[in-house]
Amino acid sequence: SAKSAGRDGYRFFDAAMTEAADERLRLEADLRQALKRGEFVLHFQPKIASPSKRVVGFEALIRWLRPDGTLIAPGRFIPLAEETGLIGAIGEWAMHTACQTLRRWREAGLCNLSMSVNLSARQLRNPALIVQVKRALAESGIPPGLLEFEITESVAMEDPSRTIGSLRALKALGLVLSIDDFGTGYSSLAYLKLLPIDRLKLDRTFVTDIETDPNDAAICAATIRLAHTLGLSVVAEGVETQAQAAYLAGLECDEMQGYYYARPLPEAEARHFIVHGLNCGEPMI
Ligand code: C2E
Ligand code: MG
Ligand code: MG
Ligand code: MG
Repeated sequence: SAKSAGRDGYRFFDAAMTEAADERLRLEADLRQALKRGEFVLHFQPKIASPSKRVVGFEALIRWLRPDGTLIAPGRFIPLAEETGLIGAIGEWAMHTACQTLRRWREAGLCNLSMSVNLSARQLRNPALIVQVKRALAESGIPPGLLEFEITESVAMEDPSRTIGSLRALKALGLVLSIDDFGTGYSSLAYLKLLPIDRLKLDRTFVTDIETDPNDAAICAATIRLAHTLGLSVVAEGVETQAQAAYLAGLECDEMQGYYYARPLPEAEARHFIVHGLNCGEPMI
């Protein structure tokens, strides 16, 4: 009958839901284990200043290295970590590890490099964040001005009054703050002016076709001009070609980051990059 078909329909739906829920629970348990077993690693992607072409800092990007050797991208586990609250512990690990890495580089004589760490909404709202940051700084001895937090535009605009409070507290510690993926969210420019930030990271979506799409070129040019007028510097994300780098340099973009220079690198390779550069013999910008 129609009734039992309906019931079967529900039963099928329930089974699919249960399976999805089981899968999530499994992944959540796996993430917990991964943290305990030390399966997370950071890779480091350099930022190159323009026009000096110097490596001025790195962004720490998390990966999950499974015992079988597979490397899992953050896009596949950070969202669940955010939903479940595990991002608190994972994010603290990332911040601590990034600071310790910079400490080792500094001890090896590789000085004046900055290190940036991505911060999610939940971390920004956590009142314990300030204590965690102070501890990471104290344990590594790195100057606060060399530690940078990247907060996505959508997170920054989420809960204005609360965000401003958290950012002010971080700023009071002397950290550098930047807005990540700028241009993809819904920034109110009036509000942007009120945020105690130092830098904008121009999203990769505007960089990709900068030479061929006049709209993207105009967005990049206007963003860089706006940022400079507000006293902010600009980092371009996703620079993959020499032509893109040259175009952005012409717009006076302050720093570049992308596969053209280097992919996110394991620590040893990042260190090699600092010491030897790209070594490709071509002009980098
Ligand atoms: P994001 O902070 O905007 O990082 C930039 C992403 O673009 C990275 O992906 C990077 O590998 C990639 N990328 C860099 N240059 C290029 C390029 O030239 N071309 C292309 N196609 N891609 C490029 P990844 O490492 O997969 O990270 C994705 C996102 O995961 C990050 O976006 C960030 O939002 C988040 N994430 C990474 N690590 C952490 C972390 O420790 N904590 C938190 N909360 N989020 C993190
Ligand atoms: Mg980032
Ligand atoms: Mg970004
Ligand atoms: Mg991005």
